[in-house]
Amino acid sequence: MIVSSAFAGKTYAVLGLARSGLATVATLVASGARVVAWDSQDTARALVADQAELGDPMEIDLSGFDGIVVSPGVPLNKHPITMRARIAGVPIIGDIELFALARATLPPHKVVGITGTNGKSTTTALIHHIIEQAGYPTVMGGNIGLPILSQPPLEPNLHGVGVYVLELSSYQIDLTHSLDCDVAVLLNITPDHLDRYNGFEGYVASKARLFDMQSEGHVAVIAAEDESSQAIVNTIRHSRVGGNPSPDIIEVASTDIDPVAQLTWPALQGPHNAQNAAVAIAVARALGISDDDIFPALTSYASLPHRMQAVATHNGVLYVNDSKATNAASTSPALAAWPPIDGRPRIHWIVGGIAKTDNLDECAPYFGNVAHAYTIGEAGHMFADLLRPAMAVDDSEMLSAAVRRAARIAQPGDVVLLSPACASFDQFRDFEARGDAFAAAVAALE
Ligand code: ADP
Repeated sequence: MIVSSAFAGKTYAVLGLARSGLATVATLVASGARVVAWDSQDTARALVADQAELGDPMEIDLSGFDGIVVSPGVPLNKHPITMRARIAGVPIIGDIELFALARATLPPHKVVGITGTNGKSTTTALIHHIIEQAGYPTVMGGNIGLPILSQPPLEPNLHGVGVYVLELSSYQIDLTHSLDCDVAVLLNITPDHLDRYNGFEGYVASKARLFDMQSEGHVAVIAAEDESSQAIVNTIRHSRVGGNPSPDIIEVASTDIDPVAQLTWPALQGPHNAQNAAVAIAVARALGISDDDIFPALTSYASLPHRMQAVATHNGVLYVNDSKATNAASTSPALAAWPPIDGRPRIHWIVGGIAKTDNLDECAPYFGNVAHAYTIGEAGHMFADLLRPAMAVDDSEMLSAAVRRAARIAQPGDVVLLSPACASFDQFRDFEARGDAFAAAVAALE
């Protein structure tokens, strides 16, 4: 756990006591801060009752507080805490900002921060793996599901200083004001989470702030392959012309990757992973890691669960769990990964759940790779109607039924792919539960 004298004698409210909220309370209390914690669920409040005072920041007097630490799940654009904090003059921050504030008291280290609409977790885990293989002390945290404050503080070793690798959602960036990343990364930007922002521009502006926080001489690695990412590159360049401190920009692209080399990286197949690898290579080089360390690490990298994860081969058919693909933009590269052989499409695509949009336009360029679609969940009927003109469709409704039907139809050499392009909450607790249900249905095949 990270403990810092930066918090001694300070007072914080902590709103939201899930994983990162609990880690925040533990760090602040161990650092000598006064903590008033709250969660709408009494079971969550009970977890901190012996460490912190309990009090709802919507009701208590906030004057004199040094910050209100909220979970990134709280929609700041709608929640009344935003106005209340503003009136009290207390900043609303997240656990990443606390980490940023603690940095001055930690042993010498570097921070890599990674954002983007898709590919964040993969790229975070890949960068962490490369750094680890190169022998440096490193931990990862943030949006990847590991609260950074509960990670051990890094001590330098013979190779050099430790590197904290942070996956940052735009919500987390919104709650962060002083994180100066040694290397900041933007993978891509496509419309997502628009309910939380003032339109697409607000979402883009949120991502751009990661680079605004960087000081001169630090590095921005940007895969400027979409318009918004390119616009951010231009903004950073422009601000430098205006004399403001700004990071050095390294632009990368999927096409930097040699497709023959990529074939030797088993967990990094498909064009989207070429983007992730191109970014990771640039970050590693910016950290001073040599290609002799980088390339073997790309080969030894093992994929994260639920992201293009091969779960089984059954009767010559490969079953792939890509449950993490919760929008059409992230499903698109999964469909691209298995082109037809001898003109015969091979993908049996399980798609559906809670749709983010009423189309699958981003996937359309790869419809020709799909042999058969199996629609599930709330969006199932709509997607079935949408896809029928382009491919054979089974309106399966349930994931387990989709797996059984696909198993009956698929030929050896085919791929049964769960890449739903939708959120999971209609039928599952979260995307992990959906991926686990897929793996269980595959395991149950006769
Ligand atoms: P995130 O953490 O940003 O949600 P993940 O690495 O967990 O991203 O990948 C989520 C989904 O997005 C996966 O289904 C994967 O197929 C797809 N994906 C991964 N990298 C990219 C990329 N660079 N561009 C587009 N889609 C991607």
